[in-house]
Amino acid sequence: MARTVIAGGGIGGLAAALSLHHSGIGDIVVLEAAQRIEPLGVGLNILPNAVRVLRDLDVLDKLTAQAIQTSELRYYNCHGDLIWAEPRGVAAGYVVPQLSIHRGDLHGVLLAAVRERLGSQAFVNGAAITGVAEDETGAHVRVEHADGTSSMISGDLVIGADGIDSAVRTALWPGGGAPVRNGVVMWRGTSWTEPFLDGRTMIVSGDDVRRIVLYPIRADDKSGRVMVNWVAAQPAPGGIPPRTGGPSDLGRLSSSFAVWNFDWLDISAIIAASEQVHEYPMQDRDPLPRWTSGRVTLLGDAAHAMYPMGSNGATQAVMDASVLARALAEHDSFDDALLAYETERRPITTELQIKNRSMGPEAVITVAHERAPHGFANVNDVFTQGELAAISQKYALAGNFDIDSVNRRTGPGVSPEARRTT
Ligand SMILES: Cc1cc2nc3c(=O)[nH]c(=O)nc-3n(C[C@H](O)[C@H](O)[C@H](O)COP(=O)(O)OP(=O)(O)OC[C@H]3O[C@@H](n4cnc5c(N)ncnc54)[C@H](O)[C@@H]3O)c2cc1C
Repeated sequence: MARTVIAGGGIGGLAAALSLHHSGIGDIVVLEAAQRIEPLGVGLNILPNAVRVLRDLDVLDKLTAQAIQTSELRYYNCHGDLIWAEPRGVAAGYVVPQLSIHRGDLHGVLLAAVRERLGSQAFVNGAAITGVAEDETGAHVRVEHADGTSSMISGDLVIGADGIDSAVRTALWPGGGAPVRNGVVMWRGTSWTEPFLDGRTMIVSGDDVRRIVLYPIRADDKSGRVMVNWVAAQPAPGGIPPRTGGPSDLGRLSSSFAVWNFDWLDISAIIAASEQVHEYPMQDRDPLPRWTSGRVTLLGDAAHAMYPMGSNGATQAVMDASVLARALAEHDSFDDALLAYETERRPITTELQIKNRSMGPEAVITVAHERAPHGFANVNDVFTQGELAAISQKYALAGNFDIDSVNRRTGPGVSPEARRTT
């Protein structure tokens, strides 16, 4: 049986392990650099195309037990005028929900499923990949272990799911340099608060430079309160570069967010109530001309890191995993399978990387500010009829998460027919 080595045990790497296993490709090891697996205090929105894959992988019940099922997405200008609202997930007619979930909850469910189905030996933490080589016997990764030892681990296939600073990507594309930054800092945190709107709505608000995204990711039935995930973004104050994922004090958060409140939502109180705030640079990578070299391929942020617009980074990592597993199940040779995988996935994610550089669907907020900087009484005075719906629909089609693709499965997904029995 072919052996697969997956570099990186984030959302993409774990989804790949489960998808390959589901397709009958059994001998898999996930090598994760982190020594301790700790739930990061941040939220993710997972779009229905990926949720359908997670349902097929039989983890959806566990996820919905912890997540909030997003009902609506609303865009506001910074004065609180509603620019655009659209139903999401089941409320929009999808056969599966859109999930607003704590990253730690999603990661925990996937990791538990990997350990249960593939065995605890299939996930090795404290194992950092530092190099990749290939010869006629297969693909080999050099691993630095937490105890200071190093080893070579070999497989018939190596999947680089090791994130934006991927060592596997660097091995395939040396000299790629640092991620591309646009000078914007993002602050990210969670806090408990009273529910706003229907308790399941995601809101994005902003002007031409600042942006804040908020949505609930957990509900406490006893108190009736919700845990809200928020991300605030603006050009680096004073040009000081952000700390990559490091804890931040609120002082680094510009005072502009402290006065950004609506009648029905006290944004400054939500920010102030956060136990911990982390700051990150807004960064991505240029699209790659190829993801695969021989028996080594890339997946998730390692393949297509993009600006976090439109809830697509982790969503598309799950889609990569699903399509890769299907391609490996459907093709006899690795060459054909990896070519089919990349041919299907790379154009979609390349387009999203490019669209997200101009804010993806969130560009409507910038346009609203440019056309009506002091706010508006009627959005129809600012946008022509159908303009906003067209922007939203075009982005969904580009990301392959429009209703038709998801419900009729014309888009990618692990199909039970493709499941290997050997
Ligand atoms: C502010 C913000 C908000 C976001 N919101 C959303 C959202 O709402 N929806 C969405 O879908 N996406 C969102 N994203 C993007 C999403 O977080 C990423 O796209 C997603 O986590 C990528 O998953 P991954 O598994 O490819 O990479 P990662 O999550 O980065 O996982 C990579 C894993 O590989 C490990 N690793 C790294 N190097 C090595 C090595 N050398 N050897 C072994 N292991 C290694 C890491 O420790 C990590 O566990 C957001 C991102 C940001 C910054």
